[in-house]
Amino acid sequence: MQGPWDAIVIGAGAAGLMCAITAGRHGRRVLLLDHANKVGKKILMSGGGRCNFTNTGTTPANYLSANPHYCKSALARYAPQDFIDLVDRHRIAWHEKELGQLFCDDSSKQIVRMLLDECEAAGVRVETGCPIEEVRHHGDHFRLHTAQGPCAAPALVVATGGLSIPSMGASGFGYTLARQFGHEVLPTRAGLVPLTLSGKHHERLQDLAGVALPVEARCNGARFSNQLLVTHRGVSGPAILQISSYWQPGDDLRLDLLPGRDVLAWLQAQQRERPAAELKTVLGEVMPRRFAQRLCEIWLPSRPLRQYPDAELRPVAALLQAWPLIASGSEGYRTAEVTLGGVDTDQLSSSTMMSRRVEGLYFIGEVVDVTGWLGGYNFQWAWASGHAAGLALAAR
Ligand code: FAD
Repeated sequence: MQGPWDAIVIGAGAAGLMCAITAGRHGRRVLLLDHANKVGKKILMSGGGRCNFTNTGTTPANYLSANPHYCKSALARYAPQDFIDLVDRHRIAWHEKELGQLFCDDSSKQIVRMLLDECEAAGVRVETGCPIEEVRHHGDHFRLHTAQGPCAAPALVVATGGLSIPSMGASGFGYTLARQFGHEVLPTRAGLVPLTLSGKHHERLQDLAGVALPVEARCNGARFSNQLLVTHRGVSGPAILQISSYWQPGDDLRLDLLPGRDVLAWLQAQQRERPAAELKTVLGEVMPRRFAQRLCEIWLPSRPLRQYPDAELRPVAALLQAWPLIASGSEGYRTAEVTLGGVDTDQLSSSTMMSRRVEGLYFIGEVVDVTGWLGGYNFQWAWASGHAAGLALAAR
């Protein structure tokens, strides 16, 4: 891979592609390497094949990080509208699904095509199927030994992503490199992931697999209103995926099963209007009937409403609004959309993404300890951090 190169980017995912394009557009000679056989595999599989490429409501509050301020600078300098402008320039049709989430009308392949066309226009050399065997820092150059031969540059950008979906090319290589250069890596775990149930908790819900209902999931101060889906192994759906990033085994996880409703006042009104109706009947009218029935077999007594003194109705309402979900674990990296934790931001510049320890070494995207909510926020971080590092390379 004949140089000379101004920068080598490892990882041709969302962040690496954006970084290479930005630096290339500013005249930098960029080599973009990936061990996978094609670029942007996660982009291709994202958003059910339609890529939820950004969220118009992106703010720093939509991210988890040991330092919640770290993402601010990059997000402020590359906004969702910047990516929308790029998508529009390439005439890719898109739509808002809900809650500011933008998807391609057609296919996520269009986003990868757009990024590859941008790479070509920016003169970026892209090499896939290129495992990296060794990285060394000699003098002011990073020297890489790869399956396709050696290469070197004064700047190295690590954009290798997180650990989720190993079958799509995910590896811990970025964390290994970070440690090699003296960086802390904060403990990693699967995020935006279905939760599993075990023992009697599993048995009680198992046959309801496929049942979905709106809930508000609450854990460790976070709350998300959206759908819950009962699965064969536990629970999933957007509300559960979102809260999974805030949950760890043993944490108290509660579900409001009738979100947006004053449940006690509603039950009291039902009691006045339909005293002979059973609890499971009235609940079955506002949530899936099978779920209501199961609640009343196991967690709640089901009697005609007239038989509930106020002192009994109150705990029923309280349980419906804070139903404890005892999860045993998560489905793990096999199905997780993201990896929480990663390269500690303490030793990185929030404006350039460059290491404070090693001149010329950058970390961007999901490999860094910045993780977004479900809904296009993770790609927005990948674009924004890639753009910030690309501009920094241009300014060198
Ligand atoms: P990645 O996109 O993971 O790219 C990393 C690249 O590095 C890969 O190409 C990989 O092959 C390469 N690499 C890894 N190790 C090495 C190595 N040792 N040598 C060379 N190359 C290496 N986010 C959203 O915002 N919207 C969505 O709709 C969405 N849907 C998703 C659906 C699924 C199923 C999954 C798993 C994730 C989804 N995400 C979504 C999350 C999003 O895909 C990631 O947050 C984002 O891709 C991170 O970008 P990145 O460039 O940091 O890492």
